[in-house]
Amino acid sequence: MGNPFRCPVCNTLLEEDKDAGFKIPPQCPYLDTLYPELCSLHDKLYFGKWRKMVAVPNDIKRAYAKLGQLLPKVDEIVRKENSMQARQDVRKACDALAMANPDDEPYASVKHMDQALSYIHHAINDLLQEKQAKLHSPADYEMHYDVVLPFKEDL
Ligand SMILES: [Zn+2]
Repeated sequence: MGNPFRCPVCNTLLEEDKDAGFKIPPQCPYLDTLYPELCSLHDKLYFGKWRKMVAVPNDIKRAYAKLGQLLPKVDEIVRKENSMQARQDVRKACDALAMANPDDEPYASVKHMDQALSYIHHAINDLLQEKQAKLHSPADYEMHYDVVLPFKEDL
C-alpha cells in the first residue's frame, strides 16, 4: 500500500517486523534515546532471524539490504556530528559489509554482516558517548522482540 504510516519517533514502519519478531508497542520504546531511528534499525537487525540457526538465504539477503539502508543513515549523522571515532567505525562497517556476498554465499556472509552490525553499534555508541548520553544496549529493548538468542553475542 502506497504510503504506510511510520513511527514519528524512530521512523519504523508501523507494522510488525516478522524478521525481528517486533510487535508494535503502545508507545515507541526508543522515545528516550538520542538517535531513535538508528537504534531502532540496529535492533531490528540485531534481533533478526538472519543471525539465528533457522535463517534461510532469503532472510540473510533481506538483512543485507537492511544493513545497506542503515549504514548511509549512520554515516550521514556521523558526518553531521563530525565524530572521528564514529567515522572510523563506519568505515570498518563498510569494509565488513563489502566482504559479504549474500547472493552467492549467504551463510558465509553472515559473519561479515554480523561484524558490520557490530561496528554500526560501535559508531552509534561513539556518537552517544560524545554527547555523554547513555550507551545503546539492545538488551534494554528485548522485551519488544520475540527473542530467540542470536547464535553469536554482539561483541
Ligand atoms: Zn518508534
